[in-house]
Amino acid sequence: MAMSSLPTRGGLRPMTEVALSLQDIASCVAGYDPDALPVAQAQEFIARLVPVVQAVEQRPIRDALGRVLARDIISAFDVPAHDNSAMDGYALRGSELRADAPTRLRIVGSGLAGQNFSGDVPAGGCVRITTGAVMPPGLDTVVPQEFTQGEGDQVLVPQGLLRTGDNRRLAGEDLARGEAALAAGRVLRPADLGLLASLGLAEVPVRRRLRVAFFSTGDELRSIGEPLDAGCVYDSNRYTLWGMLQRLGVEAIDLGVVRDDPAALRQAFTQAAACADAVITSGGVSVGEADHTKRIMAELGEVLFWKIAMRPGRPMAIGRIGDAGRQALLFGLPGNPVAVMVTFYAFVRDALLRMAGATAQPLPLLRAASVAPIRKKAGRTEYQRGIVSRAADGSWQVAITGSQGSGILRSMSQANGMVLLHHEQGNVAAGELVDVLPFDAWL
Ligand code: AMP
Ligand code: MG
Repeated sequence: MAMSSLPTRGGLRPMTEVALSLQDIASCVAGYDPDALPVAQAQEFIARLVPVVQAVEQRPIRDALGRVLARDIISAFDVPAHDNSAMDGYALRGSELRADAPTRLRIVGSGLAGQNFSGDVPAGGCVRITTGAVMPPGLDTVVPQEFTQGEGDQVLVPQGLLRTGDNRRLAGEDLARGEAALAAGRVLRPADLGLLASLGLAEVPVRRRLRVAFFSTGDELRSIGEPLDAGCVYDSNRYTLWGMLQRLGVEAIDLGVVRDDPAALRQAFTQAAACADAVITSGGVSVGEADHTKRIMAELGEVLFWKIAMRPGRPMAIGRIGDAGRQALLFGLPGNPVAVMVTFYAFVRDALLRMAGATAQPLPLLRAASVAPIRKKAGRTEYQRGIVSRAADGSWQVAITGSQGSGILRSMSQANGMVLLHHEQGNVAAGELVDVLPFDAWL
């Protein structure tokens, strides 16, 4: 890809006014040990590292789905603007309802949604009304049609059925004028688009989309369409990464497979840092790695190499690359296909959301009973692929998908969730409750 065709960055600022050095950040994280880093400490480190996109653009509300709201949205008027009926029926005065016998009321007119009844309603009168129609002046209660008996221009309302104010929606009960309808940092969902529309807003300010460049490293990797030479594998990481980035709503820039060659790596990292806010690579960060990836990363930026107390996904590089004015965050993920997905979930997802300006929301976890014992070593976080289902009594249960090797991508594809075995946790007994992250929440 030619450099000139790539979008330029800009508008990315550190959370604090001055970007802290990686060493400064490390000194803020209690228990920081790059060679045996607990997952929680790695997450804390990354949260302190990430800058936030500042650039804001106005988008039509439909285009804003999945985007990050840049400012609070304050309601300029009451929604609904008037008291109105929640039912099809008759609007009446609650004070005129009899407690001892049915109340007989005379129908003096009708008010339809969009066509108000604006006349006076005399004592003993009621107005035929449809859902959403404005309550006629002085009337405060609605009797649903199906509870009434009609007799010519009169209607009978049974006793004991209603209290004053029933089936009436109050002005401003959805949103009161001056109230914050949506807070900045929200990732806009379908209900939010409806809420914005109910405020009459055609456009909203959103932060510009985060740009994330990614590439795979390793001489054994081949791209789809190339012959698979002996000892080679097709590059799958660029596809799982692409999928996860799409789900996050960022702009994903695929820079292909990069050979294990210093010039090619230097070129790829430089190009990535110039066009993206964050760069994700896979492979080449393992301890025994003989290739050039780690060296070039360190040469082009400020990068730390971690050994994380987790499984899968022990090695990882983190830092900034690029020149002073144009730095991109670097996530150097391990190469194993499952490790890529797990480290993306554990570290990259939240970091990218924060960078995009989103208010980080923890993903919901299920508590499910493990159908079999699970071996687990205390002192590291394990992410095991699991299949969650309903037990006969309706409770959740989870079974591990056989072999948990970090290269076995099929286990990830078979699974519908990940069992999160926490740092301190030891072996799990059959029937014991464990935390499960359902894939639907993020994958
Ligand atoms: P590495 O972290 O580079 O030592 O890679 C660990 C393992 O993951 C090796 O078996 C690699 O062949 C494999 N691997 C690395 N990158 C990819 C990729 N992009 N797609 C599929 N497998 C990969
Ligand atoms: Mg490798």
